[in-house]
Amino acid sequence: MAVVTATATCTAFRAVDERTGEVVIARVLIERVGSLAALTQAMSTSVVAAHWNDGDLGRVGSGVGPDGRALPAKGWMALRRLGWRAAVPEGGYAPDRVRRVAEEAAARVLRLAVHRRAVVQAILAAWPADTRRRTDAEWAALHQLPPAGVAGAEIRNRTRQLRAFKTDHDGRLPACLTELEQPPVATSAQVLLAAADKQLVTIDRSSPETAVLRVQLPLLPHPATRGDWAWHAIGFRLPGHVPVDADLRVPTLRVSGGRVRVDLPWRCNFPTVRRAGHAVALGLDWGVNTLLTGTVGKLAETSSGCRVVADGRRLRFDATGISAKLHRLRGNRETVAARRDHYARLLGGRPATAPDRERLTAKQAVLKREHERICARIRGLNHALAWAAARWAVDQAHALGATVIYLEDLATLEARGRRPGNARLSGQIRGTVVAAIRHLASKEAIATVTVPARGTSKLCPRCGKALHHAPAPDRPRERGWKWAICRSCGLAGDRDHAAAERIVARGLLAQALAGIELTTAGHTIARMVDGNVARARRPKHRTRAARRADRTQATHPIASVPPGTHQSTHSRPTGQPASPTPRRVPDRRAVPAPATQVAGKRPAGQASQTHPHRHAEVGSGPAHDRLPCPCRSRRPGAGWGFHHNVAATAVLPLGDYGPATAWPRPAQNA
Ligand SMILES: [Zn+2]
Repeated sequence: MAVVTATATCTAFRAVDERTGEVVIARVLIERVGSLAALTQAMSTSVVAAHWNDGDLGRVGSGVGPDGRALPAKGWMALRRLGWRAAVPEGGYAPDRVRRVAEEAAARVLRLAVHRRAVVQAILAAWPADTRRRTDAEWAALHQLPPAGVAGAEIRNRTRQLRAFKTDHDGRLPACLTELEQPPVATSAQVLLAAADKQLVTIDRSSPETAVLRVQLPLLPHPATRGDWAWHAIGFRLPGHVPVDADLRVPTLRVSGGRVRVDLPWRCNFPTVRRAGHAVALGLDWGVNTLLTGTVGKLAETSSGCRVVADGRRLRFDATGISAKLHRLRGNRETVAARRDHYARLLGGRPATAPDRERLTAKQAVLKREHERICARIRGLNHALAWAAARWAVDQAHALGATVIYLEDLATLEARGRRPGNARLSGQIRGTVVAAIRHLASKEAIATVTVPARGTSKLCPRCGKALHHAPAPDRPRERGWKWAICRSCGLAGDRDHAAAERIVARGLLAQALAGIELTTAGHTIARMVDGNVARARRPKHRTRAARRADRTQATHPIASVPPGTHQSTHSRPTGQPASPTPRRVPDRRAVPAPATQVAGKRPAGQASQTHPHRHAEVGSGPAHDRLPCPCRSRRPGAGWGFHHNVAATAVLPLGDYGPATAWPRPAQNA
């Protein structure tokens, strides 16, 4: 069994003051939690500000205390060993455990700064003599110096930050991180209760769906005595995805969006996923706007030996609509931010007594609010998209009997992003998708393994020769992006689908080499093992129209009747036995059939699963499949819904295909 840890965000609406037994209503609870958060925030901010210098960061980073012993792993313990204690504001009182919470928050900020300091020091040590071009030796030095696990993107971003500092300071580089960055204005306003113990907080399940958090909260914004603190029992409902047997841990409290949020970590045992020994796998490729393109592949015993066989079915999670929406929102965000900053500049140049100051301040406040709203919308969309894509991928793997999902390693993917289009769905979203797939797959005992991304779309998955990329299948001579053509074996298909086939082969053929990645603790394959992929058709089920045509063939030559003519006993050629008139004619239609319920799973959205509108392949269905969704007309004004803008291949449980599975025996996929 493997332990899966996750965090569920819950909302608390009321509490009970245990001293008086009174119910604390939402407004008061928000005030009290807010007071606690503000108190710990003020205390931790002052600790960080007091130790924001290169020497103290070095002391935290060295990991050794003043007495020569190693610093404890827990942040608040490490700070206490160093003698950096959080102080309660003058005239106030807070229990020792509240100080611990503040020290923990400060320690986390300082430890993150220690990491940034190491990166900045490494870049400064390898700063090139000629800023336009680094020599090979300088590149080598740059990649050797930073701490393990620092990605190329981080080095690039810090280099840009340093270059900006140099420009602003007449060509002078900063001496250390604390000169480059000011201490944070305020640490985050959340209460890390995990640093405290049962003298401040306890958590218990009160029923399978509810839990009670007991915590000491201040009754006033500035508690002055022990009597200003009281135990509160905060009851809240657990989200449906928290298993009944999950072990609840001490949460983090915060006030967000006018609600008290409880970020509740939970742990549960799930069957261990295997790194190797997989026969059926799902390979996924990242697209520009099509977020994921996938294919199923299996190790099969063919006439030419054991090889990877795919079924040729392209699985797509197409987020073009969301991608366009995000693009528009990002544009809006920039515009609003520019106007907000413009008002800030105008206000900065006005004396405090200027008559239009009030008007400008009001306008700036409106723009600030608008900017925050757009940022929240972008965050929400990114989150919804990433989790919907992950859910879809894991559902596909489950339905197709795959025991492993192979993905490109994002760290090795970066070098490929020369096209500006690659920025459309940002790398951040992909990171969230990977984490979400790992989490959801581990709950279903499906492994998630990353494979090297280099050259996945360069070579033909069928024969291994170089592919030509054309803009479209009917423009094979032009150079393009979307369509892959192999001049050697004649393969022609979607670029991402071909890449997904290579990814699934890379994973299945090299599965014995899978190891653990140090930074993410996920499974990864670092070596490239390429093999050609054969394609086998799934057994084709006869359509209802074909079956019916066969059945009626003997008695009723329906196919010979011109379309549109009504079948009746009058039109029956003489000499043939009479048969009842079929109720549904014609079966071979000249116009599309009415939309039917499809036994697939919609990709995402709040609407019910039995919604009559269906989202399968974009543009592939008959025209009426793309009519406006009825739910749009039901709720006027609610024209934009997440699920209308994602098109994903339906999740259909399909059986085995092609030659027999080679190894291990398919019993494992049950
Ligand atoms: Zn080929």
